[in-house]
Amino acid sequence: MVRKRIYEIARELGVSSKDLVTKLEEMGLSGMKAANSVDEDEYTLIVNLYREEGKKATAEEKPAEKAAAPEPEVAKPQPAVPEALVKAPRVRVPHHGDPRPPVVSVLGHIDHGKTTLLDAIRESHLAEKEAGGITQGVAAYQVDLHGKRITFIDTPGHKAFTGMRARGAQATDIAVLVVAADDGVMAQTVEAIDHIRAAGIPMVVAVNKIDKPNADVNKVLGDLAQHGLTPEAWGGDTITVEISALQGTNIEELLEMLLLVAEMEDLRADPKGATEAVIIESHLSAGRGPVATAIVRNGTLSDKDWVVAGGAWGRVKALLDETGARRASAKPGEAVQVLGFGEVPMVGTTLAVAQSQADAKSAAAAQAEALKPKRDRRVLTLDELFANAEERVRLELVLKAASTGGLEAAKRELDTIHIEGVELGILHAGVGAITESDILLASSVTQDAFVVGFGVKPDAKAARMAEQQGVVLLTYDIIYDLVDEIGRALKRRLAPEFEEVQTGVVEVRNLFKIPSGRVAGCAVVDGKVTRRSHVRVLRNEKEIFVGEIASLRRFEEDAKEVLAGRECGIHLKDFDDVEVGDKLIAFDLKEIER
Ligand code: GDP
Repeated sequence: MVRKRIYEIARELGVSSKDLVTKLEEMGLSGMKAANSVDEDEYTLIVNLYREEGKKATAEEKPAEKAAAPEPEVAKPQPAVPEALVKAPRVRVPHHGDPRPPVVSVLGHIDHGKTTLLDAIRESHLAEKEAGGITQGVAAYQVDLHGKRITFIDTPGHKAFTGMRARGAQATDIAVLVVAADDGVMAQTVEAIDHIRAAGIPMVVAVNKIDKPNADVNKVLGDLAQHGLTPEAWGGDTITVEISALQGTNIEELLEMLLLVAEMEDLRADPKGATEAVIIESHLSAGRGPVATAIVRNGTLSDKDWVVAGGAWGRVKALLDETGARRASAKPGEAVQVLGFGEVPMVGTTLAVAQSQADAKSAAAAQAEALKPKRDRRVLTLDELFANAEERVRLELVLKAASTGGLEAAKRELDTIHIEGVELGILHAGVGAITESDILLASSVTQDAFVVGFGVKPDAKAARMAEQQGVVLLTYDIIYDLVDEIGRALKRRLAPEFEEVQTGVVEVRNLFKIPSGRVAGCAVVDGKVTRRSHVRVLRNEKEIFVGEIASLRRFEEDAKEVLAGRECGIHLKDFDDVEVGDKLIAFDLKEIER
């Protein structure tokens, strides 16, 4: 029987031993330490339990893969989400209750037609046209297609998109990626793709401007395929719709596709459940005070509710829809302007309903505290970051470089960093200065993602935002400095490794029976054995057991250590087959410095 140590199992599972021990504790196996060994059955049990837990966790995080979801009739449009991003923090979207409209954001390169598309959709399909038609600055609107509704967030672009997510709230269910057919996939298109992937939501690609004489749809499809988005027409699972936002061509097809994706995502919410909404826009209005647009994700938001969002709180004075009309309440998937906050709530915070003024006030105070930047307001070094950090096994980074050549070189060098048990994920790699959207992306994914510039610096806004958000921002001019520092930082995240240091040799001379098993009467023939020693049991020079000591006694008394030349009684933990003549090798586990 081969025994395995917990830290060895952790390595096999690709997690830190600390995380594994914590997990085991949660699963009811408490008292395990990194150096403890387990037998084959326990090993199998741990690995299975761990994998089950992992599956459960991912199923919760990725509702799209829910086992109970009905079999879709059409191939599921799963964006090619790299492993690296699956772990992105997500607010759980409820999958019970009533079906609700999907919330859609539009992203893409500048001038590819995002605004024109949002206008075209609004003009042709606005749900509440009869009430006036003109939208009143509400940051979202609802359209209607054959009785089914879709909510569009009216602020296009990935900066807004990730800004909404930066505080952990997920406002968007599906993204529309706009790519102009006369231009193809450009730098900001790639950025948008990475931002959508980081959010872990499906996307539909709108190939726009097909009315233009120089439109080349095939080139766009080829570009997409190169970026891991193989179109359905080419056997992949990326849904593409050819449109002209300017002429209103195929807008309905695009909406159909969004409804199809929504159906497959099985978006639901409970209008009677706890109210949860995401603040997608907010400002201070001279006449109306703080104004915020909120998209309801669950429950119902009603007039006169006591509301809390981040550090802001108040009582709803009025709820307004996109036509400026007052509403008594808003249901899941609907967007409303909320009047009545005492201060302007931050975009991306989650709005909740409190039972009383006192509750609202104290919840806001608690949330304001939690929202304070966790780190000192100064630029941190990687080592400082990891000195504070718990053991982790994944590092995410956004990489920017001055040129394509520099970017490729930096990626190549980063690829050469191989440290067992640690992975390096690139959230986004691009050419150009470090911008606010790079900082936002890093801060939206994990607390520990960082931004690296190779031969480029952050612009002033990005530098300020990094400081505010506590995002580590590193710039290098020499590629080896970058590789060196990241390599060093990665090593610090490894689970500790131990080496065995032999402390003594013990011979079993006789045996005593006690109620809980056998005690070996031993003589220490070399070095020493201590209460905390680990022990290898050798019989005819063959190892038959590795484990720990349950009790070490000398003249009926518990002993801390017994030195060479002395006798003692040893009772081993989990091993009762000790025989006269067995040799026990006592050793300590010493953590290896790296
Ligand atoms: P955004 O920066 O992505 O929001 O792009 P806009 O919506 O502002 O569009 C940029 C330019 O492209 C504008 O001049 C639009 O009129 C034009 N445009 C947008 N969609 C189309 C289209 O389908 N066909 C043509 N020919 N022009 C378009």
